[in-house]
Amino acid sequence: MPGSTTPPLASFDAIVVGAGLSGMYMLHRLRELGLAARVFEAGSGVGGTWYWNRYPGARCDVESLDYSYSFSPELEQEWEWTERYPTQPEILRYLNHVADRFDLRRDIQFNTRVQHAHYDESSNRWDVLTDDGQQYTTRYCIMAVGCLSAPNRPDFKGLDSFDGCWYHTGLWPHEGVDFSGLRVGVIGTGSSAIQAIPQIAKQAEHVYVFQRTPNYSVPAHNAPLDSERQRQVKATYPARRQQARLSRAGIPLDPPQRSALEVTPEERVQVFEAGWQRGGVGSLNGTFKDLATNPEANETVAQFVRDKIRQIVHDPATAELLTPRDYPFGTKRLCVDIDYFETYNRPNVTLVDVRSAPIQEITPDGLRTTNATYTLDAIVFATGYDAMTGPLLAIDIRGCDGLALKTKWTAGPRTYLGVATAGFPNMFMITGPGSPSVLSNMVVSIEQHVEWITDCLRFLEGHRYARIEPSQEAEDAWVEHVNEVANLTLYPRANSWYMGANIPGKPRIFMPYVGGVGAYRQKCDEIAANNYEGFRLSF
Ligand code: NAP
Repeated sequence: MPGSTTPPLASFDAIVVGAGLSGMYMLHRLRELGLAARVFEAGSGVGGTWYWNRYPGARCDVESLDYSYSFSPELEQEWEWTERYPTQPEILRYLNHVADRFDLRRDIQFNTRVQHAHYDESSNRWDVLTDDGQQYTTRYCIMAVGCLSAPNRPDFKGLDSFDGCWYHTGLWPHEGVDFSGLRVGVIGTGSSAIQAIPQIAKQAEHVYVFQRTPNYSVPAHNAPLDSERQRQVKATYPARRQQARLSRAGIPLDPPQRSALEVTPEERVQVFEAGWQRGGVGSLNGTFKDLATNPEANETVAQFVRDKIRQIVHDPATAELLTPRDYPFGTKRLCVDIDYFETYNRPNVTLVDVRSAPIQEITPDGLRTTNATYTLDAIVFATGYDAMTGPLLAIDIRGCDGLALKTKWTAGPRTYLGVATAGFPNMFMITGPGSPSVLSNMVVSIEQHVEWITDCLRFLEGHRYARIEPSQEAEDAWVEHVNEVANLTLYPRANSWYMGANIPGKPRIFMPYVGGVGAYRQKCDEIAANNYEGFRLSF
């Protein structure tokens, strides 16, 4: 491959932070441009999210045939998926295969965390410091740090005194954990917990689930992937991928045309039931066009899920506790499960409401809430992430005049297209705040950003520009647009991680762009075609 020889003096054309789905593909494209690139990765292997999240039951809730790179027709044809929804080990095997196939590892430095990235205006270069004390310089700094890679562990009093072992779902031990015969406490009931709890319950002596907010969850209906279906999809991949790229959420489904309120209640329930039986993240979301925008329409689907919970969970008090009521359906990330609600019918699973009686402290032998004590041998923190901004702000990033990104974003993230931010020239973010990212099939959004950045770099190199950054006006207008579109939806009504509401003190801003990946792509393409309208370019 051209341009991959490491130059002397630790100087690169491009430094990429992170070797997950985005960093890996970015490296591949940078090489094609003939740029000398180095990727720094904190883990000891590729995979990002799929490297760290090894908790029992971890799997993607976008179907495997769609949650995969589309940039190489050979790759998409040769890889065989085994299940409708891929498990974490299978995705990690796939990503390792990609790393081998495109010979990525020789430009990835593992076990290395980037500590700071400072822009030097006199040289138009970024100075990058890693945690082994090495310093590098680069023309382009590309943040491929992921949206959900800064784990959030609430600072409970007394954790240090706990005699058992504790784990965070996003930092799971590589050797796995044997919960046999143990009393296990799981804190949290988001997507990670909802996948882990049924698996842990099969092994542990007893599982106590500490729930603050119940979640809407739909069944995955996972199954082995039929080889005939795989063959059919592979035969029509170009059209299927294109449909995903132009869709709302990066998933190749036909958009719903009808309002939930224009059909009879009987037909509505039939449509929801058909979606429930299909399963998956788009199963109910994709039934009617106004579920995310009209409270009355939303209430119909919320009620449908509440009825399902009551039908599945035998104990009425537990069912009631598991029923979400105080935020609209889909405004916190919809969960997709395998036997989650059914698990509460097991005699070895107890649901504990920590909304009415919060966790007070961790004790040497368990956990105390304001009204009870629980004896535990192990604790699982399924408490989520400092999403979207967390991974970026964990690095000391400074732009022009030494301005820290943390300072610039005190009141919330501000970007142009979620790909760049004013005052930080030649820095790009893959799926940054202000882009569709977490509201979409991440692979589709990652490929779009990587390809857009690649085209942009080709343009800069071709015209010999030394510097690109968004204008303040373009950024302000984009931030306003992102907020405006979010406010047309019900999303801001939930205390979700999309809103930063899960992290004490974090500004309450809806961070992703809800306008849809197809419309967003078109906007990005127009801006590029217009000589990067809204960006300042200089020699
Ligand atoms: P999450 O959705 O943020 O859930 C965290 C859970 O911990 C919530 O139930 C939260 O309660 C609870 N919690 C946090 N602090 C607490 C405290 N101090 N006391 C009690 N409970 C507390 O995190 P996640 O489950 O790791 O999922 C994050 C995202 O990752 C998902 O939304 C999804 O986008 C992605 N993900 C995807 C998959 C998949 O593809 N299948 C799987 C896992 C994760 P509150 O709701 O009250 O804050």
